[in-house]
Amino acid sequence: MKVKPVLALPEGLEVTAIEMIDEVLTITAVSIQVYPCCPLCGTPALRVHSRYTRQITDLPCSGQQVRLLVQVRKCFCQVPGCARKIFLERLTPFVEPWARVTRRLYQIVQILGLATGGRLGIRVTDRLGIQTSRHTILRRIMALPTEPVGEVPQIGIDDFSFRRGRKFGTIVVDLQTHHVLDVLADRTADTSAAWMAAHPELEIVSRDRGGDYAAAAYKSAPQAVQCADRFHLLANLGKALEGVLARHLAAHRARIDQESRATPLSPVQGKGPPKKHPKHAEVCQAKREERLAQYQQVVARL
Ligand SMILES: [Zn+2]
Repeated sequence: MKVKPVLALPEGLEVTAIEMIDEVLTITAVSIQVYPCCPLCGTPALRVHSRYTRQITDLPCSGQQVRLLVQVRKCFCQVPGCARKIFLERLTPFVEPWARVTRRLYQIVQILGLATGGRLGIRVTDRLGIQTSRHTILRRIMALPTEPVGEVPQIGIDDFSFRRGRKFGTIVVDLQTHHVLDVLADRTADTSAAWMAAHPELEIVSRDRGGDYAAAAYKSAPQAVQCADRFHLLANLGKALEGVLARHLAAHRARIDQESRATPLSPVQGKGPPKKHPKHAEVCQAKREERLAQYQQVVARL
């Protein structure tokens, strides 16, 4: 049985050996292209300079890691006007020049990354026998070309942190499709204004409750209606309520102190710490739960 069709190797490669080395299925092959072509001028080369073995990781076979050792040639380009005098013969589109993985492995990691993300993707690739890292998965995703942003009448704009609490960027979302439209490098008014200026079709800008994004919208999208988004409204409402409750709480404490001073303590009461009033405890518990909910909300957005 011919091995090459099973491994789905391209026509220009001839398998010379298959063996297990360090628990990796190692396939040795040699390039059998008749005349490698110069990558600059495309002229077939007649003279070989030297030979070189490329080590390339391929898709796993039945969960077994696969390594290709492919012998390729370095050739002379004899075209007088060509800038490339010596070149390494190409294996494209099977392997990109200088790549250490096959294009099909690259694409599989990219697809898994898109479906699962970095951390979950690494669990899946481990089970499939693909050795990679979550950083590699993320790099594959980021290498994908981004689609141009078409006409978008309604946007939501807000900041986020590339590094928690240190470096901030801006995210722009289509309010109709809920898809991310763009990610801007910072959260300054100028950067956001430049983005909005390129979209004269804007009708609604949903933003935080003022500041740079409002200034950007006033400057570059004066035709658009600005509104505060639900998250910031609720966040501001929560802070306002917290302030009101804190004032009531302080007054409540003062009243309790006055009452406790006016009422002599019994011997038993005087020994231990004062017990919290049930309503006081209830307010404290409510504040604690609210802080926890805010924390979880913020963590969920990161
Ligand atoms: Zn050439």
